[in-house]
This record gives sequence, structure tokens and C-alpha cells, in this order.
Amino acid sequence: MNTTPALVTRFAPSPNGHLHMGHAFSAIYAHDLAKSAGGQFLLRIEDIDGPRSRPEYADEFRRDLEWLGLEWEEVAPQSDRLESYQDAAGRLLATGLAYKCACTRKDIEALDARKGDDGVIYPGTCKGRCAKSDEPAATRLDVDKAMNDLGELIWIDEEAGSVIADPREFGDVVIVRKDLPASYHLAATLDDAADGVTVVTRGADLFAATHVHRILQELFELPTPHYHHHDLLLDNDGQKLAKRRGSPALASRRESGEDGLMLAEQLRLQQSLSGT
Ligand code: GLU
Repeated sequence: MNTTPALVTRFAPSPNGHLHMGHAFSAIYAHDLAKSAGGQFLLRIEDIDGPRSRPEYADEFRRDLEWLGLEWEEVAPQSDRLESYQDAAGRLLATGLAYKCACTRKDIEALDARKGDDGVIYPGTCKGRCAKSDEPAATRLDVDKAMNDLGELIWIDEEAGSVIADPREFGDVVIVRKDLPASYHLAATLDDAADGVTVVTRGADLFAATHVHRILQELFELPTPHYHHHDLLLDNDGQKLAKRRGSPALASRRESGEDGLMLAEQLRLQQSLSGT
């Protein structure tokens, strides 16, 4: 008998600060989508941000989700999967689809190159150059080469429809950071496949990242999940909620005795009113 659940979603927070209402919204969204289809809702702790990743935040997240009345199955944290990231990046290096890059942030900022939303688009300065073995180096994906080899790729997005993946706007993205054995793009793509995630739900701020993830899926011959990039909750000034802007923490609300189940219901109502 095949017992694999038909629909698998996940919530994948980084334990580098408190969760806020935006995270609660996102977790409830993924949870309800899975539960309403008799599927599975996973929690994956994305803890590969060096000393910024703290286990006490991960513990706090579990208490927050429980307080909101969610039920989940927790899968291995990213810190337990470093070998799989290294192995995958090694395969791309071996086939010439990735290269080592020793440029510093300062070197890159000083380049006379095109700029995108996140600053200078890396123009491939280190491509074809051999980094010295003792030089700290990141690994970058050769996006043009990957795009030429792969042809047109699409993903299906609940909100945007059928989207043609084109990560060229990012330049040659980093797949292994200098200081870490992976990058968000590489780790999230490999993990979603390893965890059997069939629907990736996350905020619209990560929509652009999916262009990169789609290419990586194809390079590693991984299945392509469906995507829901839901709207973001905004604060009273119309600004996106963010850990770094000190948006009110779920933990403080929980510790002040607020009813988490009621809060979850309000967020569900908001979701159905906005049609997200
Ligand atoms: N770990 C990421 C974050 O906390 C989420 C990644 C994702 O959902 O793909 O922003």
C-alpha cells in the first residue's frame, strides 16, 4: 500500500531571531493547505547561518507553533545535511556548471557592472580563473551555461500561473558561501526535494528566488513542486514585517498570555478576506 501523503508543505524558518506575525501567517497557510488535503505539514529548521543560528530560537519556534494550535512533523535541520550540500556543489564544479569565486564584497561593489535589486549583478569575473587553494572562495553557478544547457524551464505558481524561470537577473548566484558549506538557494532546493515537499508555500518576497531554485532542480534532476507565494502581512505603516525591524515577536505575545488559537483564527480570516 502506498502511504505517501499526496500533499506535503513545509515551514522553514531560520533561527536567527524571533518569529513575527508574518511567520505565523505563513506557517498557518502551509499547515492548513496540507491538513485540508489530508497531507503532511513539515517543520524544517534552516540553521546554517553560522553563529547567527541559535538553537534557543528553534525551541521558541516550536512553542510558538504549538501555541498557534498547529501540528507538524519535524524533519532534519539543515545543519545535519551539510554533506549533501557539499556533494551537490562538488558535482556542479566537476561538470563546469559552477566555479570558485574569491571576490570580496568590496571587490564586487567596486565593479563597473549592472545593478539589480540586491546591488551589483556579479558579471562572472572569476569564471575560468583558478582560485588559489588557500584563498577563501565561494562557489557560484554559471547561470548562462546552465540556461544554455537546459533550455526553457517553467514552474507553476498558484498566484502567477506558469512562470518561465530566468535567473539571469541575479547574475552567477552563490551556491556555497565562503563561510558556510551552502547557500540558501542550494540548501532549500535540495531539502525540499529530500523532504518530498510537493507544494512550496512562502512569502511573495521569495518569489524571485524560485527562478534560481527551478534551475537547480533541473541540474540535480529533482522534481519541481508547485508554488504559492502568498502576500506579505504589512505593519501599520505599510512596511513588510521583519525580524531586523523588530516587528513584535510571537513569543512576547504568547508570554503575555494572549490566546494563540484566537490569533490563528484572526489570521485565517484575514487570509480568506484578502483571497491570498
Ligand atoms: N529560511 C527562510 C527564511 O526564514 C525561508 C525559506 C523558504 O521558505 O524557502 O526566510
